[in-house]
Amino acid sequence: MNDVLNHFRGAGALLDGHFILSSGLHSPQYLQCALALKDPEDAAQFGRAIAEHFTGQEIDTVASPAIGGIVIGFAVAQALNVPFVWTERENGVMTLRRGFSVAEGEKILVVEDVITTGGSTRECIKVIEDRGAQVVAAASIIDRSDGQADVGVPRVSLVTLAVPTYSADLCPLCERGIAITKPGSRQ
Ligand SMILES: [Zn+2]
Repeated sequence: MNDVLNHFRGAGALLDGHFILSSGLHSPQYLQCALALKDPEDAAQFGRAIAEHFTGQEIDTVASPAIGGIVIGFAVAQALNVPFVWTERENGVMTLRRGFSVAEGEKILVVEDVITTGGSTRECIKVIEDRGAQVVAAASIIDRSDGQADVGVPRVSLVTLAVPTYSADLCPLCERGIAITKPGSRQ
């Protein structure tokens, strides 16, 4: 879905260059999804695009892992006209707070902005399932695992990317002498 990527590039949410990721690995691409959702109508549009995949599936509630999933999760819930809750960490452990709860048998769609390893989606799914609700699917705007992330339930993404990463000593961008961009300076 090239228009999604074009929107990300236009919003400065997908940068091309030479970056050091939080993992320490080097990469020619950097993703800052929050920027792509800054305009509420853009967020609503991504929400509708994800929701389209789940019409007729009788989703009761959308749940997202905080913080990254909150804006897009809300937008998907709005498009499906169902409630929205989010999970967040308390003393390092993902949980439901703020009076949020899910009921036994409730059908939940878990939504995140970007899936990289699927870790936060899996944590969110566990919180929901530990409370007896049923996670029927997971979704994200972008899958940067090249389709590899396994979260244990069917998964939908608007865009799938294979973002190359290199260890510092084997980085072809370093070898070509390309200056390192600090994404933080663009935020
Ligand atoms: Zn490099």
